[in-house]
Amino acid sequence: VPSGSVRVRFAPSPTGFLHIGGLRTALYNFLFARKHGGQFILRIEDTDQERYVPGAEEDIIASLQWAGLTYDEGPNVGGPCAPYRQSERKALYRQYAEQLVASGHAYYAFDTPEELEEMRQRLQKSGNPSPKYDAITRMSMRNSLTLPAQEVERLLAEGTPYVIRLKVPRRETIRFYDLIRGWVAFESAEIDDQVLLKSDGMPTYHLANVVDDHLMGITHVIRGEEWLSSTPKHVLLYQYLGWEMPQMAHLPLILSPKGGKLSKRSADALGIPVLVRQYRELGYEPAALVNYLAFLGWNPGTEQEVFTLEELIEAFSLDRVRPSGVQFSLDKLQWYNQQF
Ligand code: GLU
Repeated sequence: VPSGSVRVRFAPSPTGFLHIGGLRTALYNFLFARKHGGQFILRIEDTDQERYVPGAEEDIIASLQWAGLTYDEGPNVGGPCAPYRQSERKALYRQYAEQLVASGHAYYAFDTPEELEEMRQRLQKSGNPSPKYDAITRMSMRNSLTLPAQEVERLLAEGTPYVIRLKVPRRETIRFYDLIRGWVAFESAEIDDQVLLKSDGMPTYHLANVVDDHLMGITHVIRGEEWLSSTPKHVLLYQYLGWEMPQMAHLPLILSPKGGKLSKRSADALGIPVLVRQYRELGYEPAALVNYLAFLGWNPGTEQEVFTLEELIEAFSLDRVRPSGVQFSLDKLQWYNQQF
């Protein structure tokens, strides 16, 4: 990696207060940026207004600050791509969605919720357990691929609600290289024609995320494993928009000591705090949480266990991040808390 060229981002959705998994993602991005003399950007992905939690953005910012993860560009810092709240960049996403329609890679869909439900039931009855709006289904729906052009123009002129959907190829293997997992492949037949622009004019995660990563010059996308299955959709978007894709790195899941993903629910049942805010309130040393989270999926390849932030920056590399899930241990975290 050439020094100074790295640009990474932490892109939380303000749908809840920052949890430790989010802080670990932010930390790995931060360490990678600082290690390579690059930039670390905070971007608030607030396009899902129904799931917006008041106070979440403030909590995310306060938690990053508490942990010492300073960012170079973000909502309260400015920078060349400000604003860094997606809700303030709406017009931009629409422009790219329209561009995809014009180039034949996306289309307008006018189906009502009732029509979509009817389609699902019809497919289920005919033995399809996971009905999708896909290359086959779309042929019998009301969209700009099936309706005559004049009809489409009339519907648009009348202000009929519509969404813009991605035209996912019927049969294609979509491959990408992940810096932590190696080559990953998905079959396009498994993917829905994703909604890119909702009827309220808001972009979905997929569109806004790809547009912003491109416009913000992101070189490496470092995020949790739960986003791995979104990546083939992003691969298609990069390809159709004619953009180079950033390098991808998906971090291992954090597992409960009892097995399974460490969710808020499973953690609560075991008395494990999962919100960064809880650790703040319990009086934990930020350095202890940071040090512990650094080790949750990464190791330095030496015997050293206790690191300052500066030492972590020095030692960190994505090569030493493991692909498989890692078990959370409150005992180990408490041990770290005694070291600082
Ligand atoms: N907004 C997504 C989240 O809440 C971002 C995922 C990504 O980094 O692409 O985690």
